[in-house]
Order: sequence, then structure tokens, then C-alpha cells
Amino acid sequence: MANLTHLSPIRDHLGRPLKDLRISVMDRCNFRCIYCMPEEKFHSGFNFLKSSERLSFDEILRVTKLFTDLGVSKIRITGGEPLLRVNLTELIGDLSTLKKIEDIALTTNGVLLKKYSEELKACGLNRITVSLDSIDPEQFRKMSGGRGNLETVLEGINAALSVGFKKLKINAVIKRGTNDDQVIEMIDYFKDQSVIIRFIEYMDVGNLNQWKLNETVGSDEIIKKLSQKWQLDPLDKNYEGETAQRYQISGSETEIGLISSVTKPFCGSCTRARLSSDGKLYNCLFASEGKDIRSWVRDGKSDEYIKNELASIWKERRDRYSELRYSEEIDNTDEKVEMYYIGG
Ligand code: SAM
Ligand code: SF4
Ligand code: SF4
Repeated sequence: MANLTHLSPIRDHLGRPLKDLRISVMDRCNFRCIYCMPEEKFHSGFNFLKSSERLSFDEILRVTKLFTDLGVSKIRITGGEPLLRVNLTELIGDLSTLKKIEDIALTTNGVLLKKYSEELKACGLNRITVSLDSIDPEQFRKMSGGRGNLETVLEGINAALSVGFKKLKINAVIKRGTNDDQVIEMIDYFKDQSVIIRFIEYMDVGNLNQWKLNETVGSDEIIKKLSQKWQLDPLDKNYEGETAQRYQISGSETEIGLISSVTKPFCGSCTRARLSSDGKLYNCLFASEGKDIRSWVRDGKSDEYIKNELASIWKERRDRYSELRYSEEIDNTDEKVEMYYIGG
């Protein structure tokens, strides 16, 4: 079979290179965020994966290595809650030894960060994003589905900063009528700390969160609100394909990001492939079906075989759901993959 390494990074049908791999290492979560894993659907009887169904660390490492031969240089570890995966730092340590990997980031709800910050720093993790939707304890509990504790997450953030994670990002999903006031409150709270605060538009991922467009607070509306209190200076993109529009509060070091997945889709520069914890490959956050990579790995297929298949999947990729959300090209009756399963 042809060796595809020299073609790296490969490009999809719309010319987008394969650069990032998001790896969900765990489908379970210790939160039940109302927009992601609503408690009424993810109750105690919910069937999460068995541990034997999740890709092992060796399997993840092997598949990631093959992805690097096709162009991947950035990894994000996600979930569910990734820090629930036992010995996660061993996996990150192994991934950090892959020659072509330039950046490994982790997205977490922060509950276990205090416990693991030091290990995470030592194992080679480069960056952390903490998802936090409110700094009001009651509202926090409402958003997290009554799980976790704000104080624990704030301690986790401090622990990560104190072991030396720089430019830590805090991602807040703003849901109209629930935590809109946090746009101001969170900046007031975090503005003198060394963090970047990013507001994410509430999205119609999956089928279970009963999403309604009027509950999404668009980034223009957020900017308008912030501009009443602070002067915002636009910042250049850090790199081609960065999803956030960046601003700085004038005269300060405080950086704010807006991720407008609904109102200003960025499919044209989407270079991300996603691997679920049971080894299915998804080309888009809103895909209905994933390709079962685990079966190739466990059926003894060769590296060359798997690499060629991965390359074909990416080359065929035409996904751009957010750009087509309201067009007839999208069949909104299709089941979409859930966020907890594929990671953000
Ligand atoms: N549990 C980890 C966490 O919350 O950071 C990692 C996985 S979580 C699925 C990844 C990101 O997806 C989080 O920042 C979360 O806020 C975001 N997310 C989940 N559902 C969403 C939705 N419907 N709209 C926008 N963002 C969502
Ligand atoms: Fe868990 Fe993250 Fe989903 Fe919240 S957003 S339920 S923390 S996976
Ligand atoms: Fe990428 Fe799909 Fe999101 Fe568009 S909708 S930015 S293709 S994940």
C-alpha cells in the first residue's frame, strides 16, 4: 500500500488540513451540566461504556502516532471528564514523546485539578482549559446539574496556576435566562488573574439538551454588554484557524475570547478530527456516525492499513454543519453524536 506520510498534512474535500486530534478518554462525568448531560437522561441507570470498550492507552498512543503521520501536531484530551480516567498522566506522558506532537491540551471541569495539577505539569501537558459557567455558587450548581462545588473548581484553577500552567483558559457556556449575568461577573472576578476568559455560544450538539436558538447568547450581544463597562481592543489571531475572536480590556492584560459557533461558524478553518473513548472517529462535532477505528486496531490490521483508511476518511470529509445549520442540506431528524461522548 502507498505510504502517505510524505503527503502530510492531508487535506479534506474542502481543502482543510488535518492538524488537530481531540481524544475523548472517558465517557463518564462527575457533573450533569444542563446543556450537555442533563440528569434526567444521564441517570444512575444510564449505560456508560465498559472499561474494556474504551481504547486502552496503548491503543490511543498507536492511533495518535498514525494521525501524526497524516498531519496532526496538536492534541486535546477531553471527555466526559478526562481526569476520571485512571492514570491519565501516563497517557499524556507517552503522547508527549511522539515526535510530531507540538502541543497537548486538556479540557476539564476542574474538580480534580487540585489533586492532579502537579502530575499534569510534570508529565508534559502544555495547556489547560477549565470549563466554568458561573462564579455564583448557586448558579454554578444549577449549570452543573447539582454536582460539584464552585470552591473546589476555583482551588483547582489556583493549583494549576501555581504549578506553572500559563494562559489557562476558562470556558463559560452562556445560556440565556440562566447565567447571562456571568458575562460581567466572571470578568470582574478573574480579570487580575493570569487567565483568559472565553464565552462559548450554547450549541445544538447532540439530541438530549432540548436546545433552542433563543437560549443562545450570541457573541455580538456579549461584546455589546462588555463594551458598556470596558473598552475592548481587538487582538490578532494567534494562528490560522483559531476559533476564538480575541479582545483585550484596554489598559490591562485581561484577554477575553468569544467562540461564536452558532452565529459566526468557522467550519472553513476546522482542522479537527475527534476520537471517542471507544475508538470511533468523527469528522465533526455534529456528525451522526463515526468510523470504528477500534475494530481495525483489535482485529490486527497493520499500521499502513489503518493510516490509509484514516487518510481516506479525512479526504472524503465534507462536514460543515454550523454553516449549514438552517439549510436544506442538513437533515435535522438525523441523530447527532452527544458532546459527553465525543468531547468538546
Ligand atoms: N468535562 C470536561 C469539561 O467540561 O471541560 C470536558 C468535556 S466537555 C464536553 C467540553 C466542553 O464542551 C466544555 O467546555 C463544555 O462547556 C462544552 N459544551 C458541552 N455541551 C455544550 C453545548 N451544548 N454548547 C456549547 N458548549 C458545550
Ligand atoms: Fe461533564 Fe463537561 Fe459535559 Fe459538564 S460539559 S457534563 S463537565 S462532560
Ligand atoms: Fe468543525 Fe463541524 Fe464545528 Fe464546522 S460544525 S466547525 S466542521 S466541528
